[in-house]
Amino acid sequence: MARPALLCDIGKVLADFDFNRAASAAAPRCRAATEGSSAELNALLEDIKLPYENGDMDDETFLTGAKTRLGFEGSRTELTALWCDIFTPNAAMEQSLRALKQRHPALPMHLLSNTAGLHLAHLQEHCPALSLFDGGVFSHLAKASKPGQRIFEIAIEQCQLEPAHTLFIDDLPANIATAKAMGFAVHHYDLHNHQAFEHRLEQWLRDEDLT
Ligand SMILES: [Mg+2]
Repeated sequence: MARPALLCDIGKVLADFDFNRAASAAAPRCRAATEGSSAELNALLEDIKLPYENGDMDDETFLTGAKTRLGFEGSRTELTALWCDIFTPNAAMEQSLRALKQRHPALPMHLLSNTAGLHLAHLQEHCPALSLFDGGVFSHLAKASKPGQRIFEIAIEQCQLEPAHTLFIDDLPANIATAKAMGFAVHHYDLHNHQAFEHRLEQWLRDEDLT
């Protein structure tokens, strides 16, 4: 018997984010950064951001590395606060998923996110939609990241997913492409068109005889 489930990204789906916010807030206190753009911040942190998200670097090592590269003249606590203050919860998505959970309390809902310790801890505290999920797979713990297949394979095994009966929701075309190639049902989420998700969800629920 089919076991339908949901597999959902976090960034730009459950919460919008804007690295410019961190970059411009940090800029006046950074010896290295002057203009405060996210492109500049990303360039300065380029060599440590990916290893951090892939779980090859812990929070402390990342913070030490970031503090040095930015020439940040503040404490690690202050840098952590700036690094994490980039998210805005997506209220429309939270509402839809809360309603779905009420309609189908037994439907398994899992997260699949490229993230790292500091952001995940922050999101768990400040983004209420995360509490609707039965856990998930996170790149820094899985030591694999989207759009690679490995993290999807880990999710299939760990969350006991049947791709054909799992609706994968993500905002990035490359992640959607991998999921599609692996046989998942997919929805390419657009923060500016939440209605499209509502329609896709209803269609998928009908496909899975869950209405
Ligand atoms: Mg995303």
